[in-house]
Amino acid sequence: MTNLAGKVALVTGSTSGIGLGIARKLAANGAHVLLNGFGDVDGALALVREATVSASQKVAHHGADMSRAAEIEQMMGYCADALGPADVLVNNAGIQHVAPVEEFSPEKWDQILAINLSSTFHTTRLALPSMRARNWGRIVNVASVHGLVASAQKAAYVAAKHGVIGFTKVTALETARTGITCNAICPGWVLTPLVQKQVEARAALQHTSLEDARLGLLSEKQPSAEFVTPDDLADLVLFLCSDAGRQIRGAAWNMDGGWTAQ
Ligand code: NAD
Repeated sequence: MTNLAGKVALVTGSTSGIGLGIARKLAANGAHVLLNGFGDVDGALALVREATVSASQKVAHHGADMSRAAEIEQMMGYCADALGPADVLVNNAGIQHVAPVEEFSPEKWDQILAINLSSTFHTTRLALPSMRARNWGRIVNVASVHGLVASAQKAAYVAAKHGVIGFTKVTALETARTGITCNAICPGWVLTPLVQKQVEARAALQHTSLEDARLGLLSEKQPSAEFVTPDDLADLVLFLCSDAGRQIRGAAWNMDGGWTAQ
């Protein structure tokens, strides 16, 4: 257990997948949690409330679109007013789009850069002043193995995730003499709705079953041949939030079943 009682955690893109797993784990360790994201908001709120360990913990949601700086600013203000300024900021919202460079839609490029990269800059610049005032903070940016290595057809995603790791290092340097740390985590394949879409596309293209498509996807890149889970990643976030993580600064920590060891 990491004691986050009284701390406020903001997790972007936390109505589903990895973000929801992280939000639940932070709640289970005592934090107040502000969720963000689209889709089944009530379901996500219920799961995170269920994970709390004290009746005094606050759990709320803000629907800011992470591609819009003004909405991000509103969300940060709402967080400070309703729960308190964020002590733990997990930049997790992200989308994927797959196409060769010459067929990649410029609109999709802009959208992926905005959601997967620029939102991290906006939340961080807005969270840092109050973290500095309290001389404590944990910023965890959910990058990807695609922040470290590339795959074909993922130009915008790979560019954005490499950018997230660069931004993480700058933030870590600028906060190095404070109680604020900033790190990136780099998951390999995690079976979330984001990846399920790629499994379905692969099954359709190769006329195979979903199970064969899942195994095919894994065996190409991930030596463990097993998916990483949101719960595994949430434990890594929790570790980075703990006292033991206080001198981990500017890391890009992979949890990828061996993908980037190759
Ligand atoms: P997911 O699709 O399950 O969840 C994405 C979340 O982001 C959802 O809550 C969604 O509502 C939210 N979101 C999407 N667009 C948004 C927007 N404009 N504004 C606010 N919220 C928005 O995906 P996931 O697999 O859990 O991915 C989470 C993060 O992990 C992403 O940054 C992704 O790049 C990264 N990642 C995923 C994998 C994987 O294999 N699934 C691997 C490496 C990294």
